[in-house]
Amino acid sequence: MSRASTVFVATCDLAGLTRGRAVPGSEHDPVLRKGVGWVPADLALTAFGDIAEDNPFGSVGDLRLLPDPTTRVEIPATAEIPGVHIYLADQVQLDGTPWDCDPRSFARQALADLREQAGLEVIASFEHEFMLEGLPRTAPFSFERFRSAEPFGSQLIDLLDRAGLEPETWLPEYGEDQFEITVSPTNALIAADRAVLLKELVRETARRNGRRATFAPLVDPDGSGNGVHVHLSFKDIRTGLPVLLDPAAPGRLSSVGARFARGLLAHAGALTAITAPSPVSFLRLTPHRWSAGGAFLAERNREALVRICPTSTIGGADPAHQLNLEYRAADAAANPWLTLGALVRAGLDGLTQDGEQPEVWPEDATEEQLAAVPALPSDLATALDTLEKDDVASGWFAPDLLRTHLAVKRTELALVDGLDDAELCRKVADVY
Ligand code: GLU
Ligand code: MG
Repeated sequence: MSRASTVFVATCDLAGLTRGRAVPGSEHDPVLRKGVGWVPADLALTAFGDIAEDNPFGSVGDLRLLPDPTTRVEIPATAEIPGVHIYLADQVQLDGTPWDCDPRSFARQALADLREQAGLEVIASFEHEFMLEGLPRTAPFSFERFRSAEPFGSQLIDLLDRAGLEPETWLPEYGEDQFEITVSPTNALIAADRAVLLKELVRETARRNGRRATFAPLVDPDGSGNGVHVHLSFKDIRTGLPVLLDPAAPGRLSSVGARFARGLLAHAGALTAITAPSPVSFLRLTPHRWSAGGAFLAERNREALVRICPTSTIGGADPAHQLNLEYRAADAAANPWLTLGALVRAGLDGLTQDGEQPEVWPEDATEEQLAAVPALPSDLATALDTLEKDDVASGWFAPDLLRTHLAVKRTELALVDGLDDAELCRKVADVY
């Protein structure tokens, strides 16, 4: 490993931005042991740079960003640009104990509770869409678009591969300038770590090609949205076997899967305040955008909040190892650890409560039939109020974490007050 490269120790904040501090390469080993300093009020930074005033931390307090050695990614140098090592960190107290507002610890604890209370291990993958600005106009899904982005695409796949992110598919998407990148499913905490890292590796590769990538949920009010679809499946911790497939059940979704989805649906409004938390996010979450047009569970329907994904038997593949639930109402303004933790908490609530199984809408459900499904919040302010009023969902978070999230997001809303949709999209796209 090259010792010369700077080491950047990073966290991901409530605006979904990767922030942190660098140390010289000579401090590589010490920083892994001791971490670097960090400030509690950093959690109150909005996407636009201002600190939300109504935060519990003020000017006092100190934390450490303690790197997780397993998250190391090396971005190699080029002739012009120095390389860097990036580590993702837990935000801890000065004695090394977890900070109760740390999003990564929130995810880790939710996964541990699901394991303990339901005997399930989560396998996840975050699927990202983004736009690469400044390319010639090309057709959706076209080979021409694919090639017009070179050498960006091949460099990106190479970088993801070297970083151990296991790239799976790289495709020209439907929207103008839009692409999608998927990585293999893995242990859920690692999947969320990958979601943090992937965005930075995409941005780095774009910069190296004189371009800018944006993951903004919507860049143009009339254009396509950029989603982050979260794929979840589960293994029984005793048998190690996948538990979602039941060929006899509606949608082939086992009782475990249906009850987990029930929790996602029951807390859908509150969840969107975490998973789609920018002022433009809710312009994307409307019907006919193939994002999430309502709070429903459906077989292979891209308008569903929770989609039961397809499986294939080609080449003798086993559907039991493929079936997964896809939560579609997330975007890149969300913190992947908070998203994962909140989805797991909601699912655990569905697993442990008594009640009806949720309706599984079949593939041939008509638009008229689906008109009856509950709507998602129409805007971020409504979603935040829904989270605050949902006693179960608000109880998932340490009080200071919840208060800070609400304050950050309400401050962001105040900072975009008065902008029309196009201006709002532009302002948010400048950040993401
Ligand atoms: N772009 C859509 C979204 O905003 C997703 C399209 C797709 O199914 O890939 O989520
Ligand atoms: Mg897509």
